[in-house]
Amino acid sequence: MTTRRAVALYARISQDRSGDEAGVTRQLRDCRVEAERRGWVVAEEYVDDDVSAYSGKRRPAYQRMLRDITEGRRDAVVVWHMDRLHRRPIELEQFVSTCEQAGLRDVVTLLGQVDLANNDGLLMARLLAAVAANESAQKSLRLKSKTREIAETGRPTMGGRRPFGFAEDRIIHEPAEAAVVREAAARLLAGESLTSVTRWMQDSGVPTVSGAQWRTHSVRQVVTNPRMWGMRVHQGQVISAGTWEPILTPEQGERLRRLLLDPDRRTNRTARRYLLSGMLTCGRCGARMVSAPREDVRRYACRTGPDQRGCGGIYVVADPLERFVAEAVLHRLDSPQMHDALTGNEHDDAEVAGWAAKVQEDERKLLDLADMFADGEIDRVGMKRAREQITPRLEVNRRALAAANGRDQVVEYAGRGVELREAWDGLDLSRQVAVVKAVLAGATVLPATQRGRRGFDPGRLVPDWRA
Ligand SMILES: [Zn+2]
Repeated sequence: MTTRRAVALYARISQDRSGDEAGVTRQLRDCRVEAERRGWVVAEEYVDDDVSAYSGKRRPAYQRMLRDITEGRRDAVVVWHMDRLHRRPIELEQFVSTCEQAGLRDVVTLLGQVDLANNDGLLMARLLAAVAANESAQKSLRLKSKTREIAETGRPTMGGRRPFGFAEDRIIHEPAEAAVVREAAARLLAGESLTSVTRWMQDSGVPTVSGAQWRTHSVRQVVTNPRMWGMRVHQGQVISAGTWEPILTPEQGERLRRLLLDPDRRTNRTARRYLLSGMLTCGRCGARMVSAPREDVRRYACRTGPDQRGCGGIYVVADPLERFVAEAVLHRLDSPQMHDALTGNEHDDAEVAGWAAKVQEDERKLLDLADMFADGEIDRVGMKRAREQITPRLEVNRRALAAANGRDQVVEYAGRGVELREAWDGLDLSRQVAVVKAVLAGATVLPATQRGRRGFDPGRLVPDWRA
């Protein structure tokens, strides 16, 4: 008996097995007993509450466990049955290679130990995973072929609730809702935050289809749904062109997906109270100026102290500075330079579409590979080699797409200075920030020369306009 001191327990609800609601509790209890019997110490219990892992949905606890294994923090895994760990052969292969690299060899199922370093153990694990995949596939096969057939014709799914923006027939637009989708998309692409757009949708008087209040996740769901740009989705994948009139363009759709489905994006940002946060540089020492209110006066200051490396020599009162900058920005939006930027940006749309097409193609290839592997058309080595060709290229194209996307914002606002000036005080801060950032990269604040001057001395500001 080997002593293991950092054992992972894994459990997952599987809806495929009926009458198994209490499943997780039982799985965990059995696994704990097994670990104890072996004299192993449980470091962590990972539980996923997932409807169907077979559909490829993410399992956060499983991912966390893989990370802990990768980082060498776990030295064995106890799972009730292999099918709780993996439903698709490809997942097993990823799991095996993760374990191999981390030197983890003991994977115990209550059916018996699988030694991943041992060929028989690996074979058994593979067989179990193949059986699990086959079971799930069989179960949905009858239903699948028919719904897939319909999907391939591009006709809409008729079950459940109608999609937002469309009438009951799922073809004709619901005009008020379609308008809301377009406006929300435009605001998001112009850099307004998801929180702020959600608030706007709550105030728009147009509720969700169920009548529920808009939330950030429901807004995200609506504007990233490929149906909005005329794509028919089947089981999470675009399968054909829809038979309905799109509400958004595919380019907008791809940009929205990049913007809102980017895992790096934080969703619950705290509201910004300073228009120029992070944009000002101290003209004496070059440090970034930070918000530094004194009593009731909002100020930006160069700070000195344990966390800030500034000189502490400059501050500026926020209100008059922000008014001045806003005015300059709005003026700039209507300038000839902006007109040039605007016409120049027509190329960007084509550029974005080009990158988006490349990214989509590679993403589809990766999915195809996984299917080919699952169906036994290619082996593990073949899959690995193909992935190694696609993945670096995909990363490069994704970065290029993100960079091209970053330039949308100017297009959105150029030539609209007069209109925006009228609306300015009514815009919420995140929208104001988006407008400012569209044309201004940042600014340096010079030391004051006239003490006690009322308002802001424009001579102190050295703007760094975007080209
Ligand atoms: Zn300074």
